[in-house]
Amino acid sequence: MSESTKHITVHTSSLFDSKQKRFVNDVSIVIDVKTGLIADTFTRGDEALSQDELSRPDTIDLRGLTVLPGLVDAHTHLFLHPYADVASLHQMRDESAVERIVRATNHARAALDAGYTTYRDLGTEGLGDADAGFRDTINRGLTPGPRMFVATECIASSGGYEIRQESRGGALGCCGGGTAVPRISDPADGVDGVRAAVRRRLGAGADIVKFYADYRKRALRFPAPSWPGAPEIRFPPSAHPLYGARNPNTLLFNQAEMDAMVAEARLAHAPIAAHAHSPEGVIMAARAGVTSIEHGMTPSEDALRAMKEHDVLFVPTLSVFEASLDSYGEEGEQVLREILQHTKNAFDRGIRLACGGDTGAFAHGENVRELELFAKAGIPAPDVLKAATLRGWEVCGGDLCGRRFGYVGAGWAADLVAVSGDPLKDLGVLRNVLFVMKDGEVYKGSSI
Ligand SMILES: [Zn+2]
Repeated sequence: MSESTKHITVHTSSLFDSKQKRFVNDVSIVIDVKTGLIADTFTRGDEALSQDELSRPDTIDLRGLTVLPGLVDAHTHLFLHPYADVASLHQMRDESAVERIVRATNHARAALDAGYTTYRDLGTEGLGDADAGFRDTINRGLTPGPRMFVATECIASSGGYEIRQESRGGALGCCGGGTAVPRISDPADGVDGVRAAVRRRLGAGADIVKFYADYRKRALRFPAPSWPGAPEIRFPPSAHPLYGARNPNTLLFNQAEMDAMVAEARLAHAPIAAHAHSPEGVIMAARAGVTSIEHGMTPSEDALRAMKEHDVLFVPTLSVFEASLDSYGEEGEQVLREILQHTKNAFDRGIRLACGGDTGAFAHGENVRELELFAKAGIPAPDVLKAATLRGWEVCGGDLCGRRFGYVGAGWAADLVAVSGDPLKDLGVLRNVLFVMKDGEVYKGSSI
């Protein structure tokens, strides 16, 4: 690239300011191609841009379109594809590593194509630390994809998050045998044990630590049939995801263990996320000082109070609940309504929300569904757009993550997307992204 093209200028007529939560007019953005950062922004005067100016190779004209910072999905699993096609058990247990990695390569491309320039990827679900290696292939320019922040394996306590295997110990559980299954978490117990686990994760290349504050581990009491011909459990208890007794959420760690994980992550200046469904799990993780709560969907004023008090970011993952509505039977619609209302209550309390769908459980590329569900919950569109951009950066650790993104300003990553139409009227226009730039590089819409 010659000296004269070291900078490119992008002209916009409608640009989303994710700090002010409003669109600003006639802003031009100067990008340093070498650093991938925005060097400067300025508001153009009345003077019309000349045809000469516009036809220069270092100029991109996005006027007439709606321009936003690149979108951030705050909760993804790049190695998963829709559960509606293949249940998670079979993806984790039965698909080869090669198949999963090839799928992930396609997922990464689909995500970037959909305007997602950052993925906060919270666990490989049975593929060890492969996400760290995958992230590096993107960073090395070998394959297109979002900027990834990865968790590698998640931390759970013994027996807390693992593949149910009824034959594991042979007939009596004492004589060996059984089949081998991949582990889906890094098991750790006790204050020293969980500290060691955080150290292992960071050593494995994690950008962010994730632990399970709780899990439905007692599902083992009522196992679903997982092989052809296996009989159903007779007279199963209620499958209600919020209040049912079939899969009650059980705390996996005590307060001292959660505190220790957060302290250890802080020593390494790493953000830390907690999976928590139950109010008890949310409250304990918030008290420990985690960066974010993932899911947190059981309606509870106490849980909201704890998140607010400890200034924890909340990633409600509404899309994954919607995607699994069918499995809740007749109660599905009512469950979703309660979860949406809980999310709105969190917003009304001033809790910082980020958009992350648990994407992978439904299709990569459909990530915008989470924004639509935020709107359905009653959150105003400008706040939804902030939750999908600037809040996404905050939940990646903000300045701890080493790069600024999710806002258009000098010193921030040159991540831009453009759509036609007005997202304030209909967030659905974001489903048709016409232009994608990440780190100053155009991945889509180069003919614009
Ligand atoms: Zn997840």
